[in-house]
Amino acid sequence: MVDATPDATVDAPTEAAEATDALGMSVAQLRALGHWLVDRVADHAASIHSQPAIAEAPATQLLESLGGPVPEAPADPLDALRVLADHALAFMQHGDHPRYFARVPGPSSFTGILGDWLGTGFNAMPASWGGGSGPSAVELVALRWLGELLGLPPRAEGVLVSGGSVANLMGLRTALDANGPGVCYLTGQTHASIRRDLRVLGVVDRDVRVVATDAGLRMDVAELERALDDDRASGARPSVVVATAGTTNTGAVDDLERLAACCRARGLWLHVDAAYGGPVALVDPSLAAGLGSADSVVTDPHKWLFQPYDCGCLFVLRPGALTASFAMNPEYLVDSRGRHGEVDLRDRGIELTRRARGLKLWLTLRTHGAERLRGAVRRGLELAEHAERRLREDDRWEVVTPAQLGIVTFARRGVDEGAHGDAARAIAADGYAAVTSTVLGHRHALRLCTINPRTTPSDLDATIDWLAAHLDHGA
Ligand SMILES: *Cc1c(COP(=O)(O)O)cnc(C)c1O
Repeated sequence: MVDATPDATVDAPTEAAEATDALGMSVAQLRALGHWLVDRVADHAASIHSQPAIAEAPATQLLESLGGPVPEAPADPLDALRVLADHALAFMQHGDHPRYFARVPGPSSFTGILGDWLGTGFNAMPASWGGGSGPSAVELVALRWLGELLGLPPRAEGVLVSGGSVANLMGLRTALDANGPGVCYLTGQTHASIRRDLRVLGVVDRDVRVVATDAGLRMDVAELERALDDDRASGARPSVVVATAGTTNTGAVDDLERLAACCRARGLWLHVDAAYGGPVALVDPSLAAGLGSADSVVTDPHKWLFQPYDCGCLFVLRPGALTASFAMNPEYLVDSRGRHGEVDLRDRGIELTRRARGLKLWLTLRTHGAERLRGAVRRGLELAEHAERRLREDDRWEVVTPAQLGIVTFARRGVDEGAHGDAARAIAADGYAAVTSTVLGHRHALRLCTINPRTTPSDLDATIDWLAAHLDHGA
C-alpha cells in the first residue's frame, strides 16, 4: 500500500483528513499522493534538457504495461501513478522540451499548469453564471485581457475551447449564420483542420475556393478579387474569406488589412485563423491592427501563450453573433441562467459542460504581466532569426523561407529530396531533437519552429549541425 499516512497534518484538521472522495479515497491520501505528484512533475521539469525531445514505444509494449483485464480489486494508487508517469508519459513528444522544434511546440508555463490543476481540483465548470459565476468571471476577464493584447476592440466577444480546430469550426458556423450560406475562400496554405471544419459544417466542395498564393505563400488578394467577381458573375454567393495569420508551414501572414477592406466593400465575413501566430500581435502593432480589422479571430494559447493543453480561443467582433449561433435555453437550464444579463458561457459555443480554461490563462497573465509575455514571444522570433543566420553561414544549406513568426524552413543542396524526411525521422528516433519535414511548392524542406523561450542558440546550432552531418553522410 502507498504510504498515505499524513506525515504532516499541521494544516489538516483531523476531521478533514478523515473525509473521503466519492470512491472512498481519504483526504490524507489525496494530500500525500498530490505531494508526490507535484514532486514528480517538478523533477520532470528540472531535468527536461537531458531527456529526449520525443520518444515512441511499440504498441505491444505499451498495451502490455498499461493494459490487462479490467481491474476488479483495488491496487496501490502510487504504483498506478508511477506506471502512468514512467510507462505512458515518457513516450510522447515533449512539446516543452527546448529542442522540440517540430510541428508547433507547447512550451507551457508553470502558472498555466498550476491554474489548470486548481480548476481540476475544485472541479470548476463555467457553463452558466448561476452555476459558475466565479470561474465564468475569470474566463471573461482573461478573454478581455487577451483580446486587448491581441489588438481587438472592446466589443469582441470571446470563448475558450479545446483548440484551434474547434475554435475555427465555431467561428465559421458563426460567420455562415451571420452572413448566410455561400462560398468560402482559403488557400493551399490554410490549415487542414479548416477543410475538415467546413466538411463538418456541411459546406460542399463546390462552395470552397482555393485561392492562389503569392511568392511569399500569402493569399493573393488580386486572385481573390478575381475569384469573387467570377463567382458573382456565375450566380454563386461569396460569404466567408478565411485568412491565416501565421501559417503552420512557414509562418506567413496574409495581408489582413487589405483582405478586411475587400471583405467590407463586398459584404463578406473575414475569419482569421491566428491559432499559431496570433500572440505575435503582442509585439507587432501591424499584426494587431490586422486582427482588429477581422470579423472573427482564432488563437491558441496552448501554442504560443505558454498554456498547457488544452486552450484555444475564438473571438467574434460582431456583438451578439456568437450567442445568435449557439445560445440554447431548455427548461432544465433556465434556473442557472444569469438573471441580470450576465454571460452564460455555454451560449458562446458547442460545449455545455466545459473545463475552466480561463483559470490558467488568468493566472499566467496576472502573475507575469504582459511585458514578460512580450519578452517571451520576442525571444521565439529572435531564435528563428538566429537559426536562419546559422544556416546562411553554410553554403550547402539553402534557406527556403526566411525566419517568419518563429519558423524557418531550409534544405540541403546536393542531397536526395527524400533525405530531408529521413533526417527528420532519424533525429526524432535518436531523441536529440524533433524537427518537421515539409514540402513547399514541390521543394522538400526541413522546418524549425522556435517558440520555446527556454531554447538556447546552442540548442539550435547543435540541431542544425546534427542534421547537416546526417544529410551529408547519407548523400
Ligand atoms: C494548430 C493550428 C490549428 C489547429 O489547432 P488545434 O489546437 O491543434 O486544434 C489551426 N490552424 C492553425 C494555423 C494552426 O497552427
